[in-house]
Amino acid sequence: MHAWEPVPVPVVPGGDGGVVRVYDTVRASVQPVGPATGAARLYACGITPYDATHLGHAFTYVSIDLLVRAWRDAGLDVRFAQNVTDVDDPLLERAADTGTDWRALAEEQTELYRTDMAALRVLPPDALTAVSEVMDGITGTILGLRDRQAAYQLTDPTHPDWYFSVTSTSNLLQGAPVSLPEAEQLFAERGGDPERDGKRHRLDCLVWRQQRPGEPAWDTGLGAGRPGWHVGCTTIALNALGPDFDVQAGGSDLAFPHHPMCAAEARVLTGEPFAQAFLHTGMVSYEGAKMSKSLGNLVFVHRLRAEGVDPMALRLVLLAHHYRSDWEYTAAELAAAQTRLAMWRTAVARPSGPAAGPLIEAVRAALREDLNAPTALAAIDQWAAAPGTDASAPQSVSAVIDALLGIRL
Ligand code: ZN
Repeated sequence: MHAWEPVPVPVVPGGDGGVVRVYDTVRASVQPVGPATGAARLYACGITPYDATHLGHAFTYVSIDLLVRAWRDAGLDVRFAQNVTDVDDPLLERAADTGTDWRALAEEQTELYRTDMAALRVLPPDALTAVSEVMDGITGTILGLRDRQAAYQLTDPTHPDWYFSVTSTSNLLQGAPVSLPEAEQLFAERGGDPERDGKRHRLDCLVWRQQRPGEPAWDTGLGAGRPGWHVGCTTIALNALGPDFDVQAGGSDLAFPHHPMCAAEARVLTGEPFAQAFLHTGMVSYEGAKMSKSLGNLVFVHRLRAEGVDPMALRLVLLAHHYRSDWEYTAAELAAAQTRLAMWRTAVARPSGPAAGPLIEAVRAALREDLNAPTALAAIDQWAAAPGTDASAPQSVSAVIDALLGIRL
Protein backbone atom coordinates (compact mmCIF):
# COMPACT_ATOMS: atom_id res chain seq x y z
CA MET A 1 0.00 0.00 0.00
CA HIS A 2 1.10 3.58 -0.42
CA ALA A 3 2.42 5.67 2.45
CA TRP A 4 1.86 9.43 2.53
CA GLU A 5 3.35 12.37 0.69
CA PRO A 6 7.04 13.09 1.31
CA VAL A 7 7.76 15.84 3.81
CA PRO A 8 10.52 18.27 2.78
CA VAL A 9 13.49 18.43 5.17
CA PRO A 10 15.91 21.36 5.05
CA VAL A 11 19.60 20.47 5.14
CA VAL A 12 21.41 22.13 8.02
CA PRO A 13 25.15 22.21 7.29
CA GLY A 14 27.65 20.68 9.70
CA GLY A 15 25.83 17.51 10.73
CA ASP A 16 27.75 14.90 8.76
CA GLY A 17 29.49 12.16 10.66
CA GLY A 18 27.53 12.53 13.88
CA VAL A 19 26.68 9.51 15.99
CA VAL A 20 23.11 8.95 17.16
CA ARG A 21 22.55 7.05 20.39
CA VAL A 22 19.28 5.66 21.73
CA TYR A 23 18.24 3.49 24.65
CA ASP A 24 18.21 -0.16 23.63
CA THR A 25 15.72 -2.11 25.73
CA VAL A 26 17.60 -5.39 25.29
CA ARG A 27 20.97 -4.09 26.48
CA ALA A 28 19.23 -1.75 28.96
CA SER A 29 21.54 1.12 28.07
CA VAL A 30 22.01 3.96 25.62
CA GLN A 31 23.89 2.68 22.58
CA PRO A 32 25.04 4.06 19.23
CA VAL A 33 22.67 3.07 16.42
CA GLY A 34 23.17 3.13 12.68
CA PRO A 35 26.20 2.65 10.46
CA ALA A 36 29.09 5.11 10.13
CA THR A 37 28.14 5.73 6.50
CA GLY A 38 25.48 4.51 4.07
CA ALA A 39 21.95 3.63 5.04
CA ALA A 40 20.51 3.11 8.49
CA ARG A 41 17.71 0.57 8.51
CA LEU A 42 14.63 1.05 10.68
CA TYR A 43 11.48 -0.92 11.20
CA ALA A 44 8.60 0.69 13.09
CA CYS A 45 5.66 -1.46 14.08
CA GLY A 46 2.56 0.11 12.63
CA ILE A 47 -1.04 0.45 13.61
CA THR A 48 -3.88 -2.01 13.66
CA PRO A 49 -6.25 0.20 11.69
CA TYR A 50 -9.43 0.42 13.73
CA ASP A 51 -8.92 3.37 16.09
CA ALA A 52 -6.49 5.67 14.32
CA THR A 53 -4.77 7.90 15.30
CA HIS A 54 -4.87 8.65 19.02
CA LEU A 55 -2.22 10.64 20.84
CA GLY A 56 -0.48 7.47 22.02
CA HIS A 57 0.10 6.47 18.38
CA ALA A 58 1.13 10.01 17.49
CA PHE A 59 3.66 10.10 20.35
CA THR A 60 5.20 6.84 19.15
CA TYR A 61 5.55 7.87 15.51
CA VAL A 62 6.67 11.44 16.18
CA SER A 63 9.32 10.03 18.55
CA ILE A 64 10.52 7.53 15.94
CA ASP A 65 10.53 10.38 13.42
CA LEU A 66 13.15 12.12 15.59
CA LEU A 67 15.45 9.17 15.02
CA VAL A 68 14.95 9.30 11.24
CA ARG A 69 15.65 13.04 11.25
CA ALA A 70 18.73 12.71 13.50
CA TRP A 71 20.17 10.02 11.23
CA ARG A 72 19.54 12.10 8.12
CA ASP A 73 21.11 15.12 9.78
CA ALA A 74 24.17 12.97 10.51
CA GLY A 75 24.52 12.37 6.77
CA LEU A 76 23.01 8.89 6.63
CA ASP A 77 20.40 7.60 4.27
CA VAL A 78 17.51 5.90 6.04
CA ARG A 79 15.67 2.81 4.87
CA PHE A 80 12.47 2.85 6.82
CA ALA A 81 9.78 0.17 6.71
CA GLN A 82 6.50 -0.04 8.55
CA ASN A 83 3.57 -2.44 8.58
CA VAL A 84 -0.17 -2.05 8.91
CA THR A 85 -1.71 -4.97 10.79
CA ASP A 86 -4.90 -5.05 8.75
CA VAL A 87 -5.68 -8.68 9.61
CA ASP A 88 -5.99 -9.19 13.36
CA ASP A 89 -8.53 -9.96 16.07
CA PRO A 90 -9.31 -6.43 17.32
CA LEU A 91 -9.91 -5.11 13.82
CA LEU A 92 -12.12 -8.05 12.87
CA GLU A 93 -14.05 -7.74 16.14
CA ARG A 94 -14.61 -4.02 15.58
CA ALA A 95 -15.77 -4.68 12.02
CA ALA A 96 -18.20 -7.36 13.23
CA ASP A 97 -19.51 -5.15 16.09
CA THR A 98 -20.19 -2.24 13.77
CA GLY A 99 -21.45 -4.28 10.82
CA THR A 100 -18.63 -2.94 8.65
CA ASP A 101 -16.61 -4.85 6.11
CA TRP A 102 -13.16 -5.36 7.70
CA ARG A 103 -11.39 -4.22 4.52
CA ALA A 104 -13.39 -1.00 4.38
CA LEU A 105 -12.71 -0.33 8.07
CA ALA A 106 -8.99 -0.97 7.61
CA GLU A 107 -8.75 1.22 4.52
CA GLU A 108 -10.68 4.07 6.11
CA GLN A 109 -8.60 4.01 9.29
CA THR A 110 -5.32 3.61 7.40
CA GLU A 111 -6.18 6.66 5.31
CA LEU A 112 -6.95 8.61 8.48
CA TYR A 113 -3.58 7.56 9.86
CA ARG A 114 -1.78 8.72 6.71
CA THR A 115 -3.54 12.09 6.86
CA ASP A 116 -2.69 12.52 10.55
CA MET A 117 0.95 11.57 10.02
CA ALA A 118 1.29 13.98 7.11
CA ALA A 119 -0.30 16.78 9.18
CA LEU A 120 2.17 16.07 12.00
CA ARG A 121 5.00 16.16 9.43
CA VAL A 122 6.17 12.63 10.20
CA LEU A 123 8.49 11.50 7.41
CA PRO A 124 6.81 8.63 5.57
CA PRO A 125 8.33 5.14 5.51
CA ASP A 126 9.85 4.01 2.21
CA ALA A 127 7.53 1.03 2.38
CA LEU A 128 4.21 0.83 4.19
CA THR A 129 3.06 -2.76 3.89
CA ALA A 130 -0.23 -4.29 4.95
CA VAL A 131 -0.21 -7.81 6.34
CA SER A 132 -2.89 -8.74 3.79
CA GLU A 133 -0.40 -7.94 1.02
CA VAL A 134 2.21 -10.49 2.09
CA MET A 135 0.34 -13.74 2.72
CA ASP A 136 2.72 -15.71 0.50
CA GLY A 137 5.71 -14.27 2.32
CA ILE A 138 4.22 -15.07 5.71
CA THR A 139 3.47 -18.60 4.58
CA GLY A 140 7.10 -18.89 3.47
CA THR A 141 8.26 -17.72 6.88
CA ILE A 142 6.11 -20.28 8.67
CA LEU A 143 7.18 -23.12 6.37
CA GLY A 144 10.79 -22.06 6.91
CA LEU A 145 10.26 -22.23 10.66
CA ARG A 146 8.60 -25.63 10.31
CA ASP A 147 11.58 -26.92 8.30
CA ARG A 148 13.79 -25.88 11.21
CA GLN A 149 11.51 -27.67 13.71
CA ALA A 150 10.47 -24.27 15.07
CA ALA A 151 6.83 -24.25 13.97
CA TYR A 152 4.29 -27.01 14.51
CA GLN A 153 0.63 -27.69 13.93
CA LEU A 154 -1.70 -28.54 16.80
CA THR A 155 -3.32 -31.94 16.65
CA ASP A 156 -6.67 -30.30 17.51
CA PRO A 157 -8.93 -31.84 14.82
CA THR A 158 -11.26 -28.83 14.63
CA HIS A 159 -8.70 -26.04 14.59
CA PRO A 160 -5.23 -27.37 13.74
CA ASP A 161 -3.56 -23.98 14.14
CA TRP A 162 0.17 -23.41 13.74
CA TYR A 163 2.47 -22.20 16.52
CA PHE A 164 6.01 -20.94 16.80
CA SER A 165 8.01 -22.99 19.27
CA VAL A 166 9.75 -20.59 21.65
CA THR A 167 12.07 -23.30 22.94
CA SER A 168 13.58 -23.54 19.44
CA THR A 169 15.70 -20.53 20.27
CA SER A 170 17.46 -19.34 23.38
CA ASN A 171 17.02 -16.02 25.13
CA LEU A 172 13.41 -15.27 24.21
CA LEU A 173 13.10 -13.35 27.44
CA GLN A 174 16.18 -11.28 26.68
CA GLY A 175 15.13 -7.66 26.81
CA ALA A 176 11.96 -8.43 28.65
CA PRO A 177 12.56 -7.47 32.26
CA VAL A 178 10.19 -10.13 33.45
CA SER A 179 10.16 -13.53 35.05
CA LEU A 180 8.44 -16.43 33.34
CA PRO A 181 5.13 -16.00 35.23
CA GLU A 182 5.17 -12.28 34.44
CA ALA A 183 5.95 -13.09 30.83
CA GLU A 184 2.95 -15.42 30.68
CA GLN A 185 0.72 -12.74 32.12
CA LEU A 186 1.88 -10.10 29.62
CA PHE A 187 1.60 -12.66 26.84
CA ALA A 188 -2.04 -13.31 27.82
CA GLU A 189 -2.82 -9.58 28.10
CA ARG A 190 -1.31 -8.82 24.72
CA GLY A 191 -2.97 -11.30 22.42
CA GLY A 192 -1.33 -14.55 23.54
CA ASP A 193 -3.01 -17.77 24.66
CA PRO A 194 -0.93 -19.47 27.38
CA GLU A 195 -3.84 -21.76 28.31
CA ARG A 196 -4.41 -23.20 24.85
CA ASP A 197 -4.40 -27.00 24.97
CA GLY A 198 -1.88 -28.93 22.94
CA LYS A 199 0.89 -26.33 22.76
CA ARG A 200 4.42 -27.42 23.57
CA HIS A 201 5.13 -24.35 25.69
CA ARG A 202 2.71 -21.88 27.23
CA LEU A 203 4.50 -18.97 25.51
CA ASP A 204 4.42 -20.51 22.03
CA CYS A 205 2.74 -17.91 19.81
CA LEU A 206 0.17 -18.40 17.08
CA VAL A 207 1.56 -18.04 13.58
CA TRP A 208 -1.35 -19.35 11.50
CA ARG A 209 -4.96 -19.62 12.58
CA GLN A 210 -7.25 -21.88 10.65
CA GLN A 211 -10.39 -20.19 9.44
CA ARG A 212 -13.25 -19.84 11.94
CA PRO A 213 -16.81 -19.13 10.76
CA GLY A 214 -17.16 -15.60 9.45
CA GLU A 215 -13.44 -14.86 9.44
CA PRO A 216 -11.39 -13.92 6.37
CA ALA A 217 -8.99 -16.57 5.17
CA TRP A 218 -6.20 -17.09 2.68
CA ASP A 219 -5.82 -20.52 1.20
CA THR A 220 -2.11 -21.19 1.42
CA GLY A 221 -0.09 -24.34 2.00
CA LEU A 222 -0.95 -24.07 5.70
CA GLY A 223 -4.71 -24.49 5.28
CA ALA A 224 -7.23 -21.70 4.75
CA GLY A 225 -6.65 -19.22 7.54
CA ARG A 226 -4.86 -16.07 8.58
CA PRO A 227 -1.58 -15.22 10.24
CA GLY A 228 -0.81 -14.44 13.86
CA TRP A 229 0.43 -10.98 14.79
CA HIS A 230 4.19 -11.37 15.29
CA VAL A 231 4.96 -13.35 12.15
CA GLY A 232 3.56 -10.54 9.99
CA CYS A 233 6.15 -8.07 11.29
CA THR A 234 8.93 -10.65 11.08
CA THR A 235 8.15 -11.22 7.42
CA ILE A 236 7.61 -7.59 6.41
CA ALA A 237 10.78 -6.42 8.18
CA LEU A 238 12.98 -9.15 6.71
CA ASN A 239 11.54 -8.55 3.23
CA ALA A 240 12.11 -4.82 3.36
CA LEU A 241 15.36 -4.57 5.29
CA GLY A 242 17.00 -8.00 5.49
CA PRO A 243 18.29 -9.38 8.78
CA ASP A 244 20.43 -7.55 11.32
CA PHE A 245 18.97 -4.11 10.67
CA ASP A 246 19.62 -1.21 13.01
CA VAL A 247 16.49 -0.52 15.05
CA GLN A 248 13.08 -2.02 15.61
CA ALA A 249 10.82 0.55 17.24
CA GLY A 250 7.37 0.77 18.76
CA GLY A 251 5.42 1.54 21.90
CA SER A 252 6.66 0.09 25.20
CA ASP A 253 3.72 -2.32 25.17
CA LEU A 254 5.55 -4.07 22.30
CA ALA A 255 8.67 -4.71 24.42
CA PHE A 256 7.13 -8.05 25.33
CA PRO A 257 6.05 -10.29 23.74
CA HIS A 258 5.82 -8.70 20.28
CA HIS A 259 9.40 -7.66 19.64
CA PRO A 260 11.13 -10.65 21.24
CA MET A 261 8.78 -12.98 19.31
CA CYS A 262 9.56 -11.25 15.99
CA ALA A 263 13.27 -11.39 16.77
CA ALA A 264 13.17 -15.05 17.84
CA GLU A 265 11.35 -16.11 14.66
CA ALA A 266 13.80 -14.17 12.51
CA ARG A 267 16.84 -15.59 14.32
CA VAL A 268 15.68 -19.15 13.76
CA LEU A 269 14.89 -18.40 10.12
CA THR A 270 18.02 -16.49 9.11
CA GLY A 271 20.63 -17.51 11.67
CA GLU A 272 21.30 -13.81 12.19
CA PRO A 273 20.10 -11.18 14.63
CA PHE A 274 16.84 -9.45 13.76
CA ALA A 275 17.65 -5.90 14.90
CA GLN A 276 20.66 -4.42 16.62
CA ALA A 277 18.60 -2.32 19.01
CA PHE A 278 14.99 -2.12 20.19
CA LEU A 279 13.55 1.32 20.91
CA HIS A 280 10.38 1.72 22.94
CA THR A 281 8.28 4.80 23.48
CA GLY A 282 6.32 5.67 26.61
CA MET A 283 2.57 5.40 27.09
CA VAL A 284 0.24 8.39 27.04
CA SER A 285 -2.60 8.59 29.52
CA TYR A 286 -5.66 10.79 29.70
CA GLU A 287 -7.99 11.46 32.61
CA GLY A 288 -5.94 9.30 34.92
CA ALA A 289 -5.52 6.16 32.84
CA LYS A 290 -3.46 4.89 29.92
CA MET A 291 -5.25 5.75 26.68
CA SER A 292 -6.94 2.57 25.58
CA LYS A 293 -9.80 1.44 23.47
CA SER A 294 -11.37 -0.47 26.31
CA LEU A 295 -11.49 2.57 28.60
CA GLY A 296 -12.71 4.81 25.81
CA ASN A 297 -10.39 7.64 26.88
CA LEU A 298 -8.83 8.17 23.47
CA VAL A 299 -7.83 11.59 22.21
CA PHE A 300 -7.75 11.55 18.44
CA VAL A 301 -5.42 13.62 16.30
CA HIS A 302 -8.08 14.10 13.61
CA ARG A 303 -10.60 15.40 16.17
CA LEU A 304 -8.17 17.98 17.51
CA ARG A 305 -7.35 18.98 13.95
CA ALA A 306 -11.06 19.31 13.17
CA GLU A 307 -11.37 21.60 16.19
CA GLY A 308 -8.80 23.85 14.55
CA VAL A 309 -5.75 22.86 16.62
CA ASP A 310 -2.56 23.59 14.68
CA PRO A 311 -0.83 20.22 14.07
CA MET A 312 2.48 21.92 14.88
CA ALA A 313 1.18 22.78 18.35
CA LEU A 314 0.14 19.16 18.71
CA ARG A 315 3.60 18.03 17.65
CA LEU A 316 5.07 20.36 20.26
CA VAL A 317 2.86 18.78 22.93
CA LEU A 318 4.42 15.43 22.05
CA LEU A 319 7.99 16.72 21.81
CA ALA A 320 7.76 18.28 25.26
CA HIS A 321 8.08 14.74 26.66
CA HIS A 322 11.12 12.52 26.39
CA TYR A 323 10.19 9.57 24.21
CA ARG A 324 10.78 7.07 26.98
CA SER A 325 8.57 8.75 29.54
CA ASP A 326 4.96 7.92 30.31
CA TRP A 327 2.89 11.08 30.57
CA GLU A 328 -0.64 12.40 30.77
CA TYR A 329 -2.25 14.61 28.18
CA THR A 330 -4.19 17.60 29.52
CA ALA A 331 -5.69 20.75 28.05
CA ALA A 332 -2.93 22.69 29.83
CA GLU A 333 -0.33 20.74 27.80
CA LEU A 334 -1.95 21.93 24.60
CA ALA A 335 -2.21 25.52 25.82
CA ALA A 336 1.50 25.53 26.77
CA ALA A 337 2.47 24.18 23.35
CA GLN A 338 0.36 26.82 21.60
CA THR A 339 2.11 29.54 23.62
CA ARG A 340 5.51 28.08 22.77
CA LEU A 341 4.67 27.82 19.07
CA ALA A 342 3.54 31.45 18.97
CA MET A 343 6.70 32.54 20.79
CA TRP A 344 8.95 30.64 18.37
CA ARG A 345 7.08 32.05 15.36
CA THR A 346 7.53 35.57 16.67
CA ALA A 347 11.22 34.90 17.36
CA VAL A 348 12.05 33.62 13.86
CA ALA A 349 10.10 36.50 12.28
CA ARG A 350 12.47 39.01 13.92
CA PRO A 351 14.98 40.79 11.68
CA SER A 352 17.80 39.39 13.86
CA GLY A 353 18.51 37.22 16.88
CA PRO A 354 21.33 35.61 18.85
CA ALA A 355 23.82 33.67 16.67
CA ALA A 356 22.38 30.36 15.47
CA GLY A 357 25.56 28.25 15.71
CA PRO A 358 25.53 27.45 19.42
CA LEU A 359 21.82 26.70 19.32
CA ILE A 360 22.17 24.37 16.34
CA GLU A 361 24.93 22.56 18.19
CA ALA A 362 22.81 22.28 21.33
CA VAL A 363 19.76 20.95 19.46
CA ARG A 364 21.88 18.43 17.57
CA ALA A 365 23.64 17.27 20.71
CA ALA A 366 20.36 16.85 22.58
CA LEU A 367 18.75 14.79 19.83
CA ARG A 368 21.79 12.66 19.17
CA GLU A 369 21.92 11.70 22.82
CA ASP A 370 18.81 9.54 23.16
CA LEU A 371 16.49 11.85 21.19
CA ASN A 372 16.20 14.33 24.01
CA ALA A 373 13.58 16.63 22.54
CA PRO A 374 12.68 18.41 25.83
CA THR A 375 16.30 19.60 26.16
CA ALA A 376 16.24 20.81 22.55
CA LEU A 377 12.97 22.67 23.18
CA ALA A 378 14.42 24.39 26.24
CA ALA A 379 17.45 25.55 24.25
CA ILE A 380 15.19 27.01 21.56
CA ASP A 381 13.06 28.74 24.21
CA GLN A 382 16.19 30.45 25.51
CA TRP A 383 17.25 31.55 22.05
CA ALA A 384 13.76 32.85 21.30
CA ALA A 385 13.67 34.88 24.52
CA ALA A 386 17.11 36.48 24.04
CA PRO A 387 17.85 39.56 21.95
CA GLY A 388 20.55 39.45 19.27
CA THR A 389 21.98 41.17 16.24
CA ASP A 390 22.69 38.27 13.89
CA ALA A 391 20.52 38.88 10.84
CA SER A 392 20.91 35.35 9.43
CA ALA A 393 20.06 33.62 12.71
CA PRO A 394 16.24 33.55 12.50
CA GLN A 395 16.29 31.72 9.18
CA SER A 396 18.97 29.25 10.32
CA VAL A 397 17.09 28.53 13.54
CA SER A 398 13.86 28.06 11.65
CA ALA A 399 15.63 25.52 9.40
CA VAL A 400 17.07 23.47 12.27
CA ILE A 401 13.72 23.41 14.06
CA ASP A 402 12.16 22.11 10.86
CA ALA A 403 14.93 19.62 10.02
CA LEU A 404 15.48 18.04 13.41
CA LEU A 405 12.19 18.54 15.23
CA GLY A 406 9.80 18.55 12.29
CA ILE A 407 8.18 21.81 13.36
CA ARG A 408 7.46 24.17 10.51
CA LEU A 409 7.18 27.69 11.82
ZN1 ZN B 1 5.42 -5.24 14.81
